Amino acid sequence: RKFVFVTGGVMSGLGKGITAASTGRLLANAGFDVTAVKVDPYLNVDAGTMNPYEHGEVYVLKDGGEVDLDLGNYERFLGIDMTSDHNVTTGKTYQSVIEAERAGDYLGKTVQIIPHVTDDIKRRIREAAEGTDVCIVEIGGTVGDIESMPFLEALRQFASEEEPEDILFTHVTLVPYSKNGEQKTKPTQHSVKELRSIGLQPDILVGRSEDKLDPETKTKIARFCDVPTNAVFSNPDVPDIYHVPLMVEEEGLDEYVMERLGIVDEALPKGDR
Ligand code: ADP
Repeated sequence: RKFVFVTGGVMSGLGKGITAASTGRLLANAGFDVTAVKVDPYLNVDAGTMNPYEHGEVYVLKDGGEVDLDLGNYERFLGIDMTSDHNVTTGKTYQSVIEAERAGDYLGKTVQIIPHVTDDIKRRIREAAEGTDVCIVEIGGTVGDIESMPFLEALRQFASEEEPEDILFTHVTLVPYSKNGEQKTKPTQHSVKELRSIGLQPDILVGRSEDKLDPETKTKIARFCDVPTNAVFSNPDVPDIYHVPLMVEEEGLDEYVMERLGIVDEALPKGDR
């Protein structure tokens, strides 16, 4: 089974969820059975108790699960029905770890974030991915947030437990413009540095900006973030989010992902997608 982990840098509300869902859509078009997991690093067990003015409307799943709106994007982009198990929150994870502790399941051990919380996170991701070819895992929030630390550590462990060709890290960042209209890569460089400081090296970088990334911007990001130039993709502003899969396909995101995951040979020929 393959896993694509999607993290975000610089700020939230960037389009990380849409980028993740678009990657999933393109893999589904290529004939793979794709699912997704949304990780929300908040202590609420689910989004049911959250103020809709702050977080947007609560999305209700088929099993009655009350979740973040992002899950709605995944269901629509991937054409699948998801369950509450596809939304992993800090609240859910802590709740099960504390319940297990009270039941004596840890046999007298000191219960800690590493390994007990991280093990629970990894278990949830693996279980949600069961029976599929590819699982897209989006980590909510921004790299560097204290809340997302246990999740990023879980991903680091997860990657070391799987074969290298089964895991891919995509990092979505903001590429702003300077007053003279130049695309600036410094925020991307800093957020990749932050990611590396916790032991994660992105394989793919996606730059959200007003327009497509200039070739020079891509080269610069590649050089500073230690990825090949063809691993840097644009996600420019589009009038309709359903254009995003087409935009990233145009730059060959799907081909690159499949190549890195070693599944190109199993993909449907381009004309049949
Ligand atoms: P994040 O997961 O980074 O918080 P989302 O994927 O939820 O961000 O997107 C945040 C907002 O930006 C949403 O309203 C979404 O519709 C919009 N958006 C995302 N990508 C694009 C794009 N390429 N062009 C225009 N709007 C976008």
